[in-house]
Amino acid sequence: MPSVTYNTASDAETVALGCHLAATLTPGVILLIGNLGAGKTTLAKGIVSGAGAAAADDVASPTFTLIHDYGEVVHIDLYRLETEREVEGLGLDEIFDRAKFTLIEWGERFPALLPQTRTEITLSTVSNDERSIVVRTVGDPEDR
Ligand code: ADP
Ligand code: MG
Repeated sequence: MPSVTYNTASDAETVALGCHLAATLTPGVILLIGNLGAGKTTLAKGIVSGAGAAAADDVASPTFTLIHDYGEVVHIDLYRLETEREVEGLGLDEIFDRAKFTLIEWGERFPALLPQTRTEITLSTVSNDERSIVVRTVGDPEDR
């Protein structure tokens, strides 16, 4: 699968990268993959604002609320859910059908509930303020 790797040196650069990605990524499900503190929510701020769905400062982590609905962009965090049954209760398919971008943190834990064709963005911590961010398309883009 083709992938593109970016490196950022601050949280502001990660927000800016998210803005850029909002203008270039194919609509659909976008998994944000990485450890706590890797920058998943920070990148989501950029994607939400780049899509014009909300201001970056108004995007907070959905860790406790599970779903933040900005209209065209929906931001989900499945960290606190443990079973497929719990995730099924969220009605994700309806969101996948209507949102331009569905951003999901910790979604890779529930592959059976995701569309086979999706974008996966993997963030890793290089040093205190540096992150490596790899963007790849999984599956067949013609299927979306
Ligand atoms: P996650 O959602 O992956 O747990 P967050 O985006 O909530 O991560 O937090 C990332 C933390 O790392 C924030 O405190 C942010 O300020 C800090 N940080 C430092 N450098 C970067 C960077 N280059 N990109 C993103 N976040 C960074
Ligand atoms: Mg987060």
